[in-house]
Parts: sequence; structure tokens; C-alpha cells
Amino acid sequence: MAKGRIEIDFDRCKGCELCTTACPQNLIRMGQRFNSRGYRAAALVDPEGKCTGCALCALVCPDVVITVYRWEPAREPVAPPVAVPA
Ligand code: SF4
Ligand code: SF4
Repeated sequence: MAKGRIEIDFDRCKGCELCTTACPQNLIRMGQRFNSRGYRAAALVDPEGKCTGCALCALVCPDVVITVYRWEPAREPVAPPVAVPA
């Protein structure tokens, strides 16, 4: 499964909380600090790395302040084929 990470522009977030309900992994919380516009901004809380980069949070954000990064994890190394004696 793909891995992901998001960045939320702290000062442009208006604290509407739409992204918190959109995340299927429930990884976005409202922070405690107020930004320069007087809103509590949302933040990614993902200590176990569960974000898949699905971008649903970014799609619902009315102010387009979420940037999504998504990548495929490296595959497990594959053992070389074993020669079979004739
Ligand atoms: S990209 Fe998907 S999994 Fe990651 S925080 Fe946003 S909604 Fe949640
Ligand atoms: S949807 Fe956008 S504006 Fe609303 S809380 Fe989330 S990041 Fe902030």
C-alpha cells in the first residue's frame, strides 16, 4: 500500500474541521495553538505512519491549504533464481 504524508499551511487554515472527518485513517486533529487569523489549525497526527496519501483531506479542504506527498514503499528484495541441476 502506498505511503503518504501531508503538510497543512498553519496560518492559512481556517479551522473548519472538514479534513478531520474526511480522513479514512482518522489522522487529522485540531491543534491547540491559534494561528495569525485566530483559528485553531488542523494537524496531522500519525505516529505510526498510517497515512496513505489518498488526498481525500486535500480534496475537501475549501481553502486548499493541504499539500499531499505520496510514494510507493520500496519492494522487498527478491532472491536470485536458483539453478536447477540437469
Ligand atoms: S492523505 Fe488520506 S490518509 Fe493521509 S491524512 Fe489525508 S485523508 Fe488521511
Ligand atoms: S479543511 Fe482545510 S481549512 Fe478546514 S480545518 Fe482542514 S486544513 Fe483547515
